[in-house]
Amino acid sequence: MATVPAAANAVATTCAYCGVGCGVLATAHRDGTVSIAGDPTHPSNFGRLCSKGSALGETVGLEDRLLHPEIGGRRVSWDAALDAVADAFGRTVAEHGPDSVALYVSGQLLTEDYYVANKLMKGFIGTANIDTNSRLCMASSVAGHRRAFGTDTVPGTYEDLEAADLLVLVGSNMAWCHPVIFQRIAAAKAARPEVRIVVVDPRATATTVAADLHLKLKPDTDVALFTGLLKHLADAALTDTGYVEAHTEGWHAALANVAGWTVDRVAEETGLAPSDVAAFFAMVAATERTVTVYSQGVNQSACGTDKVNAIINTHLLTGRIGRVGTGPFSITGQPNAMGGREVGGLANMLACHMDIEDAAHRRIVKSFWNAPVIADKAGLKAVELFDAVHDGRIKALWVMATNPADSLPDAGRVEEALKRVPFLAVSDVVAATDTLRHAHVKLPAAGWGEKDGTVTNSERRISRQRAFLPLPGEARPDWQIVADVAQRMGFGEAFAWSGPHEVFDEYARLSGAQNDDSRDFDISGLAGKGEAAYADMAPVQWPVRAGGAPATRFFAKGGFYTPSRRGRFVVTVPQTPAAKPRRFPFTLNTGRVRDHWHTMTRTGRSQRLSAHMGEPFVEIHPSDAAAHGIGAADLVAVSSPRGAVVVRALVTDRVDEGALFVPMHWTDQTSANARVDRLVEAKVDPVSGQPALKFSVARVERFEAG
Ligand code: SF4
Repeated sequence: MATVPAAANAVATTCAYCGVGCGVLATAHRDGTVSIAGDPTHPSNFGRLCSKGSALGETVGLEDRLLHPEIGGRRVSWDAALDAVADAFGRTVAEHGPDSVALYVSGQLLTEDYYVANKLMKGFIGTANIDTNSRLCMASSVAGHRRAFGTDTVPGTYEDLEAADLLVLVGSNMAWCHPVIFQRIAAAKAARPEVRIVVVDPRATATTVAADLHLKLKPDTDVALFTGLLKHLADAALTDTGYVEAHTEGWHAALANVAGWTVDRVAEETGLAPSDVAAFFAMVAATERTVTVYSQGVNQSACGTDKVNAIINTHLLTGRIGRVGTGPFSITGQPNAMGGREVGGLANMLACHMDIEDAAHRRIVKSFWNAPVIADKAGLKAVELFDAVHDGRIKALWVMATNPADSLPDAGRVEEALKRVPFLAVSDVVAATDTLRHAHVKLPAAGWGEKDGTVTNSERRISRQRAFLPLPGEARPDWQIVADVAQRMGFGEAFAWSGPHEVFDEYARLSGAQNDDSRDFDISGLAGKGEAAYADMAPVQWPVRAGGAPATRFFAKGGFYTPSRRGRFVVTVPQTPAAKPRRFPFTLNTGRVRDHWHTMTRTGRSQRLSAHMGEPFVEIHPSDAAAHGIGAADLVAVSSPRGAVVVRALVTDRVDEGALFVPMHWTDQTSANARVDRLVEAKVDPVSGQPALKFSVARVERFEAG
């Protein structure tokens, strides 16, 4: 998208959508309209925006907004609503213990919101039952980083993607899902035609169009591909022996594991042509500056963490990490998935990358917060959490800025859980979602453009989101709503901030409280700056250490955060996907389209965005369509053991025979019988707990209305 000149009174903020984290200049006009331009000074996008970002101004109206607190569907005062939440949580904890309550939050929250919610749950209520919808987008990358590096640390930057001579994009339709990064890569390739792009994806997409080599492998066979690559690199004498011996551990076991993974065996396992496998291996072997980028096709899998570690293994072996134009690089789906990770927004982590299983870390956090308790074991991860709601172990639930009734796997069961739970509070911007429908208490939250705080993008860059619109109705920022409930629960002073700048300052100070140079990734250098500096804060990558200590690149010279300070090779054993039952002979993949976001509560408001894809569809191969009597644009019932959706047939060889793809955005509210996540099995990666949203079994039938 072209850069549009911004008005002089434009406010610099950050896009509400994906993890690229583009800088946006927003101008609110007297007639109520908002114009949007890319921020030419923001180092993530340098003025570029994609279709979603450039349409942000079309999505900020007040239609369909939740503007007042409600209890039982009736408008009430904030005092009454906050008292109801505090009473329900307090009473439930008193009667059933802290693990009987839970928060389910969102990568749409700002870091300050996340910080306050985590503090309440882990340090004051005393449970780690707070998880996030980011569990659905990048938990396997977090788990893979922690296994290999000791912490959740993304080693690379966007500049590495531009400096690479070979980009391997695994499970990523970057052209649609992270468009501005894709634009940066395309520009780098235009300037240096020798740059090569390999895309590993079972589907043909807008991204594969730009690939020099598309490896259209069978779903969930990526571990086999990278296991074979590890063997090839070792056999080709590309082991960086100096790096491996000085800075890593576990490589002997990892290499013993790859024995037998020849090109032919990889080809057989993945369904790829041996010549394509060999060409890929040769390209990686020949290219020092290789970056492997991975996204939802890697993460959203029952073996997602192993996929991540199989990729990282190849970079550790070759020492291609932490140097310009090299490294494994996960890109996050949501605008603040990374910020949530930083402040402990996952049920198995404490704030500031500290470990909930580590007694010393628990002491640091508890003492810093002067907290009465500290959660001492991991809480329930998203899918487990809603299982616990369903079977009655969770008796009070607070959902913030997300719509699990549509977005979690086995969504019908999740909605049943929401109907059953004795107490459900929902904070949201919009007035109607399939989750809000079941809320006992509805809390109107401030939306994008109305609230202040920070987000962190995929390359660890912290940027400000700034308000440029007044708070509508009685809406309040999420951090304040949580702090108000905490105060009513009797936790007073610990939640008495005057604004998000004080919350951020506390987070920055806590990050430095580890006081340990072996964990040198803190942001304590951003503490103590005051409100004006926070207001003016320019985008900055962590670490930002106190005393102006220079930030160095991660891991080029070792310095991992494992106990031994060595990077860990992880033995990853390729698993053959289970055979499909005869009644459900198709593999169902779900994902995004270019111009919509999540369950469309924002993008659905823009006619321009909706024009790109007007209704939900199923991609089906021509021979499968013919075999089932399905013609182009016919209505098709796609069924799994859990239910069915009715969508339009898109007959295309983008998918292989036996494979289907249905976008995740449409719900029953936006198109009758279109909520695809009701079909998805609630199967998760055993390490990360991330749902396998890209691999369910299904069948298709031509749908006859009436
Ligand atoms: Fe927003 Fe992502 Fe598009 Fe950038 S690439 S404008 S962050 S949606």
